[in-house]
Order: sequence, then C-alpha cells, then structure tokens
Amino acid sequence: MTSSPVRTGVPDEAGNGTGSVGTDTAALVESFRHRLAAVRARIDAAAHRAGRNPAQVRLLPVSKTVPEERLRAAYAAGATQMGENKVQEARRKAGSLADLGIAWVLIGHVQTNKARDAAALAAELQSLDSLRLAQALDRRLQAAGRSLNVYVQVNSSGETSKFGLEPAEVPDFLARLQAYPALRVQGLMTLAAHTTDQARVRECFRLVRQLRDDAAQAGTVGPGLLSMGMSGDLETAVEEGSTCVRVGQAIFGARPTPPQTGTGGVTAR
Ligand SMILES: *Cc1c(COP(=O)(O)O)cnc(C)c1O
Repeated sequence: MTSSPVRTGVPDEAGNGTGSVGTDTAALVESFRHRLAAVRARIDAAAHRAGRNPAQVRLLPVSKTVPEERLRAAYAAGATQMGENKVQEARRKAGSLADLGIAWVLIGHVQTNKARDAAALAAELQSLDSLRLAQALDRRLQAAGRSLNVYVQVNSSGETSKFGLEPAEVPDFLARLQAYPALRVQGLMTLAAHTTDQARVRECFRLVRQLRDDAAQAGTVGPGLLSMGMSGDLETAVEEGSTCVRVGQAIFGARPTPPQTGTGGVTAR
C-alpha cells in the first residue's frame, strides 16, 4: 500500500506564500502544470494497481484559501473546476474570476441561510448534509429554472468535528431527496478519519462504498459516484473506488492555517 506525503518536495513556487510579487507568471503556470500532472500520475498509478480505468477518476483541485492571482495561473495550467469550502469565499472568487468561466464546486458545510448564494454560484455541491438545505436549495433552483448536481456527505469516521450524515441515516435521506427535483443526486462524498493510518482511512472509504452499493440497489443514488480522497489519502481512495479526488495542498502548497478538521473527539460507532 502506498501512502504519499502531502508535500511534494517541489520548490514551493505554486504555494500560498504572499511574497510572490515579481514571480514570473509563466513560471507559476508551469509550476502548476507540474503539480497537476504529478497528482494525475498518482491517481493513474493507483487506478492501474486496482485494475480500474484512470479516466473514471476525476481530479477536483481544491482552491480554498488560495488567492485569486494564483488561481488565474492554475486555471491557465488546466484547472478549470475548483473546490471551495466556504460560500462567502467562493462567491468572492467567482466574482473576481468571472471572466474565466471556472466551474465552482462547494465541498464544505453550507448553512441554510447561505442556500441562495450557494445555488447561484455552484456548478456542483458535494456537501449536502440536511433536508433543510436540500429544500432551501431546491426552492432557489426552481425559481431560477436550474438544477444542480449534488453529492450527499457522509461522516464515515465518527469524528465529531466532521459534517455529514451518520451512515445509518443515508438510505432514508437519499429516498427523501426524491422530493427535490432540482437536485440531481450524483453520489456520496466523505472525508476519511484524520490519521496517517491508511488501514483506518480505508475502512472509512469502504463503508461509504458499501452505502453507495446499497443505494444503487435501491435506485436512489443516481449514477452512484464517490467523492473520496485528498492530498494525503488519494491512493487509498482510488483503490477503494473513488471517482473524484479533491486535492488542495498537493497542488497549491501547504495552507497557511491548519485545516479545521482533525482534532475533534471521536464518537463510538
Ligand atoms: C480542504 C479540503 C480538501 C483538500 O484537502 P488537501 O489536504 O488540501 O488535499 C478536500 N475535501 C474537503 C472537503 C476539504 O475541505
């Protein structure tokens, strides 16, 4: 089993540092191209090991906390969709980068009172975690005459710091989503346990894949896609069936602040 470090060892030109004044844009674009290709190669290698077709695994670059100028360079390097975990930040970036036509994907918890903005800006939402949010989104989308691809987020680790449905709630939740016709259910999304223990991480991914398989039997999960895997655990995720990996740090460099997940308590499962 392979586990790759988050840092790539590539000089941090594509990182988040603020001291980038004077950085040559062409060099930055080139640096992002290398980072994207390196992540793509990790995905492809994992898919081959698992006997899967690499083309079935999408790479979603996660641009949270990365400033707009850097995202322009990443876009030029081929990152045409970007994942954001905060509606307000996504809204700001979507506004200032509107000329590029980036597909913005929401991957973090959305409060119901932000449903209007979320519905207006998102090309996809991977963090659907309540019927209240589903209802609020559906209402806005119907008013706008649009539909939205969504993934249902599952808390597969039991960590209280993580959003998402309890695994046992998933079948009923998916059945109820049928009541919201503007939401096109694509599959399930999860964050694995925050640990370097890949066996524990693998358990989380397996649990979600099993939920997907059960839901596919019931016909409630659309195409049954699986958004699983990040910079530190994408190989394990691909081996366990992921069709979308969400990768931030391996492309954009270490974030200036530690991710908010990871130190929360663990509830019994
Ligand atoms: C930040 C984030 C990621 C990316 O994590 P990295 O470690 O930067 O690859 C993936 N999914 C979600 C939901 C995130 O918030």
